[in-house]
Amino acid sequence: MQFKSIIGQQEVKNKLLNTFNQKRVAHTQLFLGPEGNGSLALAIAFAQYVNCRNRTETDSCGTCPSCVKFQKFAHPDLHCFFPTTTNDKVKKDSKSELFLEEWRSYMETSESYPTQKGWYEYLGVGNKQGIIYVRDASDFIRHLSLKAFESDYRTFIIWMPEKLHPAASNKLLKTFEEPPDNTLIFLIAERYELLLPTVRSRAQLVKVPKISDEDIRQALMERKRLPEEQAATIALQAGGNWNLAVEIAENFEDAQSNFIKFREWLRLCFKPDNYIGLNNFNSELSRIGREKVKSFLSYGLDTIHNSILVNSGQDTLLRKSDEEAEFTRRFAPYINESNQKEVYELLNEAIYHIERNAHPGILLSDLSFKIHDLLKKGRQNMNKTIKS
Ligand SMILES: [Zn+2]
Repeated sequence: MQFKSIIGQQEVKNKLLNTFNQKRVAHTQLFLGPEGNGSLALAIAFAQYVNCRNRTETDSCGTCPSCVKFQKFAHPDLHCFFPTTTNDKVKKDSKSELFLEEWRSYMETSESYPTQKGWYEYLGVGNKQGIIYVRDASDFIRHLSLKAFESDYRTFIIWMPEKLHPAASNKLLKTFEEPPDNTLIFLIAERYELLLPTVRSRAQLVKVPKISDEDIRQALMERKRLPEEQAATIALQAGGNWNLAVEIAENFEDAQSNFIKFREWLRLCFKPDNYIGLNNFNSELSRIGREKVKSFLSYGLDTIHNSILVNSGQDTLLRKSDEEAEFTRRFAPYINESNQKEVYELLNEAIYHIERNAHPGILLSDLSFKIHDLLKKGRQNMNKTIKS
């Protein structure tokens, strides 16, 4: 993890670099700030920096042997501790060391910054909450008693010290206060009030604020390739939380892809003689997975709902893209009193059945034919209305 890959937080980066350049790096530091702000990434980037063989004034090189190992979270002198609990793999006495592989892959593959919820989901532990156990504290002390393998500073990271079992923190207090030379201990927390006062008082506080809207906007443009205006809107909604920004952006993409699919599907439903085209479309759509089919159908329901509103003179398409709004306005007349109730019910039922494990391909075929008939009815009614 290099500093340059962390979104914003320039002030914190500068402060950390200054302490290093002035040779006054505190050995125990508490990185504190809200979820989605990159605290853990900053701590790891700093550890990578101080151990880099080829660092510049502002960042690690990213390519020396030490950096390469840090980037895979696999440096022998980097020790990470985090909340764990039992799951299918570890049925009892869980502890960080038993989940290192999962931890590394979670860290490497997650596009967002790690969260407790995300981590527990990754481990598949259901609703159970993790703890950092006294077993973890023993492992910590065991590693501490060994010499550094290959680096200048050994780094111990405790992610979510709020979850330290009291016995575990008691065991570590002395170490927090006076770690051996060339040892860095970084605690990464979100909730100050949940930390034991004895832990708080032994660490130097590094406050990591929310990310600025401007930095989130930039990152959305660069990393998610969003157009400027969209990125700015999402940044405002995300309130300094990168994870939230990613989530909003993804839903945005889903909405866009649902729109394109739904428009295509309706076009095919309008043309009944194109059975092969419709069949191909349905079987391809069913392969995107149950959740996405459900999201597609919900989008359809939403479009029908909006069409009915447009027909009754209420235009509620302000939050849609221009293309989507235009499409809904043109489609709306086909949904009228002759068919609106049935179309609405059909889509609602389809969602109900997809949630209860109906086969997506069969369900979509059946639905297409029924929608075809209903659209025909709607068109006839529309022509009749125009003539009269
Ligand atoms: Zn390096």
